[in-house]
Amino acid sequence: MNTPISTLLEQKGGVVHTVKVVATVAEAVREMVKHRIGAVLVLDGEKVAGIFTERDVLRRVVGEELDPKITPITQVMTTNVLTAGPEASVQQTMELFAEKRCRHLPVMKDGKLLGMISIGDVSRWVANTHRAEAESLRQYITGGLQA
Ligand code: AMP
Repeated sequence: MNTPISTLLEQKGGVVHTVKVVATVAEAVREMVKHRIGAVLVLDGEKVAGIFTERDVLRRVVGEELDPKITPITQVMTTNVLTAGPEASVQQTMELFAEKRCRHLPVMKDGKLLGMISIGDVSRWVANTHRAEAESLRQYITGGLQA
């Protein structure tokens, strides 16, 4: 749990799917569907202008009966984007997801985007770590009984 999220990014890769600030909701959703992801970052040049997730599609677009083809992404994205540094731990990231009720975290260092960590990445990592720990304990116990 003290493992830095940079370790998860090394395994996952640093690709972040983005759209430009001039995009419509339909274009952002197309990007999400194409890459089977739940969020896109909205960029103004190199700068992060916002984040748009499937929950925003539900609440701010469908819930408000907006037309995705003509709704600008800037109207429905979240502008105050929470980010983390690569040294943030898995534990801290899990706490942030729970506290802020979000599931996506762009990882940045010195203003540069290094990747995106989702709640799915974190839970997969935790499950794999537990499985590996349980297996090594099992081998230890079995070995101990044989000795
Ligand atoms: P999610 O659970 O990630 O689908 O997002 C729930 C809500 O939080 C949506 O309104 C998102 O736009 C927003 N959100 C998701 N991730 C972040 C983030 N890293 N910073 C700020 N808002 C976010």
